[in-house]
Amino acid sequence: MIFALLPLSAYGTNHIGPKTPSCGNYKVSTNEIIVGVKFPRGTYQINTFGISCSKVMGSKGLFAKFLKLKDKDPLPKPWRYLADAVGAPKFASGPGVGFRAQLITPASYQDEVSLKIDQIRTEALKSESVDNSIQTFIFQNGATQEVESKTKRSLLNALPVYKKLGFNTTNGLILVARDIDWVKQELLRNQCDNNRSIPDRPGFYYGNTCVNGNGAITSFHWESEKFNDGLDGLYFNHVIPHEYFHQIQEQLTTFGNGDFPKWFWEGSAQFFTNQAWSSWNTKSTYLEWYQHWWEDLRPDLGPNACKSATIEAMSNPRGTGTESICAYSKGQLIVELLVYTHGLEKYRSLYKANTTNDWRNFNIVFKKVTGQDLSAFYLEAQEFMTKRGW
Ligand SMILES: [Zn+2]
Repeated sequence: MIFALLPLSAYGTNHIGPKTPSCGNYKVSTNEIIVGVKFPRGTYQINTFGISCSKVMGSKGLFAKFLKLKDKDPLPKPWRYLADAVGAPKFASGPGVGFRAQLITPASYQDEVSLKIDQIRTEALKSESVDNSIQTFIFQNGATQEVESKTKRSLLNALPVYKKLGFNTTNGLILVARDIDWVKQELLRNQCDNNRSIPDRPGFYYGNTCVNGNGAITSFHWESEKFNDGLDGLYFNHVIPHEYFHQIQEQLTTFGNGDFPKWFWEGSAQFFTNQAWSSWNTKSTYLEWYQHWWEDLRPDLGPNACKSATIEAMSNPRGTGTESICAYSKGQLIVELLVYTHGLEKYRSLYKANTTNDWRNFNIVFKKVTGQDLSAFYLEAQEFMTKRGW
């Protein structure tokens, strides 16, 4: 091992490395320049020293303020940029007081997995297959024209993508609810009653017992839950395509709603929803949308919150707690790697080959379909999730 001496700057050694825990991540959404130094678009990890995180973070914090300066403007006094500091860019206002901003994920980030997934989607979108399914939307107490068309759009734009990716799209019943009691009534009215328990909020898929031969997709009405990124945002627009993907999954299994590892069931709904969304929201890549989702909109299930969630913890479909719910966010990465490694046809075969209603037998199904031991795949998945910063 070689020990190199770090050059000392005028302010001594206090600020050279982060001595305090990170304040979290800060997303820079356009390429910026501070005092002539480039800060490319991407996610930065912020560490402070001798100053509180709240003074640096957020839209009114120092980092935001510095980013807003004209490219060659000086920093407000007494701040200075430590040009001779080693590692991540650092700003200091005096001895032992300042912060550093380290670019952890550039926005243009790609790896061989994301390149391949982009290729699979791009190729699939050239397919001639046409979605002919009929979707019946029922809005509790109606909706304005804008809300109605934008609610429908979230699914109607996803369906052709699902179809072109090779999934069978079938007729759907979509209950857009202002409250759960109305959902219960509608399930009864559409003969979806099979005595299964109903969650206490809309935003779920109710299995295949309804009059149309499928299940029912439930979601919140825009008027009763205004998601924080708006009517055009990913948060609102992901719910119905996610629940609809459960209908696809249900039809791929021979006996309805198969019992699969949670990362597979929920991670798939998230992953393919994101593929659909990024195909009509092309200003960002699917990886950027993924990052936006789990770093900006739902950091409670993001890379920091889910760091310790193991594949095991994300497997039991009836598991509870944050680590289990990380199956939606972190678990999506396992699906991504699965599609990258074994392709969409084998991905679909995993449903068809499942002959027992027990997620603990997934290793048998997996081996039969892919020829790979599930435990070996999990080792690769673990490595992949770590590489992606989770
Ligand atoms: Zn789900």
